[in-house]
Formats: sequence, structure tokens, C-alpha cells
Amino acid sequence: MKTITVGTAKSEPGKLTYGHIDAMDLPTGIVDRIPVIIAQGTEEGPTFFLTANIHGNELTGIAIIHELMTEDLAKSLRGTVVAIPTQNPAGFRRYTRYPDYDERDPNRAFPEGRFAKKEEDDEDKKYPKPYEQVARKLYEYFDKYADYHLDFHNHTLRSISYSILDRIFYKDDSDKEEAEKLAEQQKGMVEAFGMFGSADFPAKKYINLKYHRSASGAVLNSLRRPAFTVELGSNNVLVPEVIAESIKGTRNVLRWAGMLDGAMEEISDFGIERPPKRVRRIEHPRAPQSGIVKLLVDPGQLVKAGDPIAKFTDMHGRPIGDGFIRTEQDGIMIALRDKMDVYPNDIVSEMGVEDDEPIIAQYPPPKE
Ligand SMILES: [Zn+2]
Repeated sequence: MKTITVGTAKSEPGKLTYGHIDAMDLPTGIVDRIPVIIAQGTEEGPTFFLTANIHGNELTGIAIIHELMTEDLAKSLRGTVVAIPTQNPAGFRRYTRYPDYDERDPNRAFPEGRFAKKEEDDEDKKYPKPYEQVARKLYEYFDKYADYHLDFHNHTLRSISYSILDRIFYKDDSDKEEAEKLAEQQKGMVEAFGMFGSADFPAKKYINLKYHRSASGAVLNSLRRPAFTVELGSNNVLVPEVIAESIKGTRNVLRWAGMLDGAMEEISDFGIERPPKRVRRIEHPRAPQSGIVKLLVDPGQLVKAGDPIAKFTDMHGRPIGDGFIRTEQDGIMIALRDKMDVYPNDIVSEMGVEDDEPIIAQYPPPKE
């Protein structure tokens, strides 16, 4: 068996082993460590990375990894699972999205990879920000070992569990076929996981938001290995049913990768009525002006253009306009705003609407 060494954790056939990556030297003289668990089987096979909690208040993935990574799993595996229960221990300690030493989104901090511009003399590039340095360490292990990758997240407090199909980019005809193959593999993984799947934002917005620099986005788009992100409903809390179903889903993905025997386990997706066609994420509707919103819909609810999504009032409770914020799109409610106050253009909810774009896209886009 191939020995896999991640930080101080070293694989042993048929066993569970533990260690850590030194993530960041803190000015106070201690080191922030990222925990690593390795389950290695006794037969050759792929290496699958499971990562969680890059956003410090997204907890479900930690519990999934703790429950899933057992000696029994190691004994029954072909290949190796490397699990990282938190990629952001500093955020976890404070239940915040960001680490205290870098108040930027850690899930947009992975290397630019194939999207890097040529201007090597860019000052900012020479001095990567603190979490960019941590992300680089993780990325180097992904690059060295990962055949597959699954990153666990949670969305807003009131949101559905769903998998995200990232956009996949190609340069030209020479790598278009490879992008198509990756898209097929990504789709296979998401279907094996078994929960509702939504395409990510359209290609241009995906790049603008730096999703190609998210953990799974970088593995998929720069390292060209099948990877996806799953959003497991509410952040800040642990919901036992979501953990239980996600463990089954993760085992299904390991079966899909040929690493585990047994029939695919059926999983509940919590009564979500699936729209007839593939959807993509959209931040909609938005607040036309400042005010107070009271959501009228549930996560997973199907809505039609014109339906009220929230009551809309001033702080005295008096209606603004006709007293509602309505959707202009048919779709499914994915995630509802955690807050009651809104400012102009604030996002009231995230919806899934029919996806009219292919999953793969050319980058840089062809000149018109
Ligand atoms: Zn997240």
C-alpha cells in the first residue's frame, strides 16, 4: 500500500491514524493546528479527501467525519480516506465564518492555479494573506494525493441540504473533452451522494466570486480531480437526521469511487419536491429599499413568479409598497436570510431557478 503522509498523520494499512498540519504560527507563541484523520484500507485504491468546517460556524461536516471515520471503515476500504474535520480551527473556536487572523472568506483563498494571470510582479501575489498560506498547505496535500474530494458546508440557518455542481472551465478545444469528462464525474458523485443537486452560479459570476478558489472549486478546476461541495442545511447547529443521512451519502460516494462494497444506501432528502429541470443558484429576490422582512416561505418550497417571499414593512410595522417582497422567478427556495433587517439590494433569499447554461464553460471567454 502507498503510504500517505499528511502533516504528522501517516497512513497504516487497515488502520485509523491521527495527526495534524501546523497551520499558522500565532503571535502569542502557540501554533494553530489542523487535525487530520487517515483511514487506510488493506487493498489498493484511490485517495479520497473529506474536508469540513472551513467556515467556522458550519458544523455538520465535523460530526460526519467523527462518526464515519472508524476502524471498521478502514478495514473495509479499498484505498484511503483522508479526513480534515476543521480547515479553520480559529473560526471554529469563535463560531465565525472567518479566522480571527484573516477576516476574509477562507473558502476563496486557495491558489489561483490555472486561472493565475501572468503578471508575476503583482505585489499582492508575492505576499499571500494569512489564510492563503494555510490554504496553500492544504492545496499541496490535495495536489499530492487527492483523487477525489468532498467539502462539507452549511448554508443559512433556514436552508435545505443540497449538493452544488460547480462550473467547470476549459481553455479551448484541446481540453474541452476533459472538462466534459470531469463534469460527468462530478454529476456521478453528486447523484451518488443522493441529495438534491443545484448548479452553481453562472460561469461569469462563479469566477467573479472566486469560487474557483474555494476548496472543492480549486481541486476540481485547477487540479482537475472530481470534487464537490455539499451544503447541509442550517449552520450553527447539529441536526441528527442530517448527519445520519449525510454519512450514508458519503459512503455512497465512496462506493461510487469503487472504494467500498455494498449496495447504495437510500437517503432521505427531507421531503424536498424536486423541480423538473436542473436548477442553478440565484440570489433573489432582493430588497428594493431598507426595511424589515418576515419570510413567508419555507426552505425547499416551490414558488412561482409573483408569489410573495416576505412581508415587507418599516420598523413601525407599516407596509412598504404593497407590503411584500415577491419573486420574479419560478423556482425552489434554497436558503432564507438569517436577518430581519435589510438594506437596499440585500439578498432576501437564495433560490434555485432553471439552469439555462451548460456546466462547462470556456475561460477566458472567447472574444466576440
Ligand atoms: Zn460554507
